[in-house]
Amino acid sequence: MPDITVIGGGLAGSEAAWQAAELGCSVELWEMRPVKETPAHRTEHFAELVCSNSLGNNALETASGLLKEELRRLNSIILRCADENSVPAGGALGVAREDFPRAVTETIHEHPKIEVVRREATELPDGPTVIATGPLTSDALVEKIEVLSGETLYFYDAASPIIHRDSLDESVVYLASRYGKGEAAYLNCPMTEEQYYTFVEDLSTAELSPIKDFEEDMYFEGCLPVETIARRGRDTLRFGPMKPVGLPDPRTGGIPYAVVQLRQDDAEGRLFNIVGFQTRLKWGEQRRVFRTIPGLEGADFARMGVMHRNTYLPANRMLEATMRIRADLSGAPLFFAGQLTGVEGYTESTAMGHIAGTNAARLARGEEPITMPTGTMMGALAHYITTKEGTLQPINSNWGLVPAVPKKENGKRLTKPERRQRQARLALEELEEFMGIGSAV
Ligand SMILES: Cc1cc2nc3c(=O)[nH]c(=O)nc-3n(C[C@H](O)[C@H](O)[C@H](O)COP(=O)(O)OP(=O)(O)OC[C@H]3O[C@@H](n4cnc5c(N)ncnc54)[C@H](O)[C@@H]3O)c2cc1C
Repeated sequence: MPDITVIGGGLAGSEAAWQAAELGCSVELWEMRPVKETPAHRTEHFAELVCSNSLGNNALETASGLLKEELRRLNSIILRCADENSVPAGGALGVAREDFPRAVTETIHEHPKIEVVRREATELPDGPTVIATGPLTSDALVEKIEVLSGETLYFYDAASPIIHRDSLDESVVYLASRYGKGEAAYLNCPMTEEQYYTFVEDLSTAELSPIKDFEEDMYFEGCLPVETIARRGRDTLRFGPMKPVGLPDPRTGGIPYAVVQLRQDDAEGRLFNIVGFQTRLKWGEQRRVFRTIPGLEGADFARMGVMHRNTYLPANRMLEATMRIRADLSGAPLFFAGQLTGVEGYTESTAMGHIAGTNAARLARGEEPITMPTGTMMGALAHYITTKEGTLQPINSNWGLVPAVPKKENGKRLTKPERRQRQARLALEELEEFMGIGSAV
């Protein structure tokens, strides 16, 4: 029996297997392709990119760039192969679609401690295991995980955009709960009649991202995208998610014609999601249309709205920040990784693979699993998905997750890029300290 079994040879599983093997453990990596296909993958390669060939921004003053730099410093195999197979992509880390997964596959095959097994997991193996089967986990395995979670997993993802609070125009938005009930919990963006109808027109005619065949079911069965509601009638939104009743604007005392509500998304109140605005508009269209909402003209999006099939765990109820299943749910040495844990995106999935693989190896070696510091982007993501109150929606890396820095330094106002650079430097210092090699930033 291997020291560790990793199920799923995607971005997270490849990273997890590699990290565990590098820590000296023998690893079996199970991948069901090509024995059983998913609706999105096209090859037998590990770490195949199912859609875009970009791993996101590479600049250190972006959250995604910081996450990549942390992974590089932690000897990530995915980042190494991506860097070695990069293609020009502006500030992003674009990779050659064929060469990158081929390089990951060859590197995994060449590792003396990893044995590749091409089979579908339909049961949870005994012994230390990392499950990294992604958003398109096969049905048989989903059933087994559901027994552990005690609930139906989320099959279709309809997420609203998330916005940084510090980018809102606070002279326009106001804090209130409907009819003043309970604590004032929502930020409200008031609209006049004219603004409302212009917005509905813009929303109804904005361009949609294409839906692939396998996503059709979700579109009809899932909750309705905001643009679909808008197309049903000019006033439908005003009686739905944009209902203004009970929300007087404190500046006028009157009830606006319509209201867009923002709900706090993180414990610290740095991030807010737009209530009921799940959407499949193209990302550029989301920025264009949603920035016409009063108060959101300068909105800085932490995550755009997305709709596609997605299987992910309520990690906030199921997992420790080490990616191990909570002891009260199972005593098994079971870890989860990748998109299945409630993160969104190639790099984020890789990061959770790194944490799970490292900790599974530590456990197999008789050591305690470790939690990454929340001042790092990796640690902050793990913390967010495992502590989020209420319903967990898939989340990208973003600056709202790590501690903010003061807006002024020595009396001088810092620009946003300057603040981001400082946040990145602090995160990397914490990482270096965590790695036990002192600050070298
Ligand atoms: C349609 C679609 C488009 C997307 N587009 C983007 C994008 O453009 N950019 C982005 O950053 N993210 C995108 N994502 C999210 C993307 O899936 C993740 O970012 C990333 O691929 C997740 O990595 P992962 O390792 O968790 O899962 P995956 O990369 O999907 O890997 C999971 C692996 O597990 C295997 N597997 C599944 N079930 C079993 C089983 N029972 N036994 C053995 N093996 C199994 C699968 O074959 C697969 O190889 C998209 C997702 C979907 C579904």
